[in-house]
Amino acid sequence: MMGDRDFRAIIQSSLDSIGRELEIEIDSKNIRKIHLQEVVRCLRRSYYDRVDPKEIERRGFNELLSGLLRRLQYGSKPKEFALEDIQVKAQADMIVDDSILLFRSANDELENPIADDILYLNACLWIYDKPDGMIIYITGDRRETTFSLTRSKKMFEEVIRRVRVLNSLLKEQKAPILEPSSECSGCQYYERCYTKKKNTKQVSLAEMLGLNKAD
Ligand code: SF4
Repeated sequence: MMGDRDFRAIIQSSLDSIGRELEIEIDSKNIRKIHLQEVVRCLRRSYYDRVDPKEIERRGFNELLSGLLRRLQYGSKPKEFALEDIQVKAQADMIVDDSILLFRSANDELENPIADDILYLNACLWIYDKPDGMIIYITGDRRETTFSLTRSKKMFEEVIRRVRVLNSLLKEQKAPILEPSSECSGCQYYERCYTKKKNTKQVSLAEMLGLNKAD
């Protein structure tokens, strides 16, 4: 607290409102339109986001990078892909010289790209019909790591399978199974999937063995 103003709360609420402004709009009632980002991450999380959403806590302006780029004049236009009666909607961050670019924030330089981002980029390559693309990770202190990708049919078929699964589970109002991954620890639905974390009392080994008790 500084004076009468809680600056931490002000920053958090600015982050939340900018984040909401930049988010891709999903009409939760329209289950015939599935957005690509819903199926490259945990399907259960995407399902909850549509049927019983809970706001996510944003941790920094760096997280807003991709949304900001999409809004700039050189950001790319969304594109849809028809899958019988389902439309799959994708949006690349940028298209330069026939290559698709995705920008993502990172805490550190990465050895390998994140699986969700590879699936997302690969699906964009098919939907926009482009041969290759790049994912550029940028850290808060402006270090960058770039990975390039040539499109793979097999990976795209997996995304299509997940689109069908999410669509039919939404139709049946059934939550998808858990997909345990590193995403879980930062997920707003953690407590719906796993039991609540309990605060346990710290007991030393000596105490357990009764070695510090007086004879
Ligand atoms: S906690 Fe994990 S399994 Fe559950 S919805 Fe979130 S990401 Fe999915």
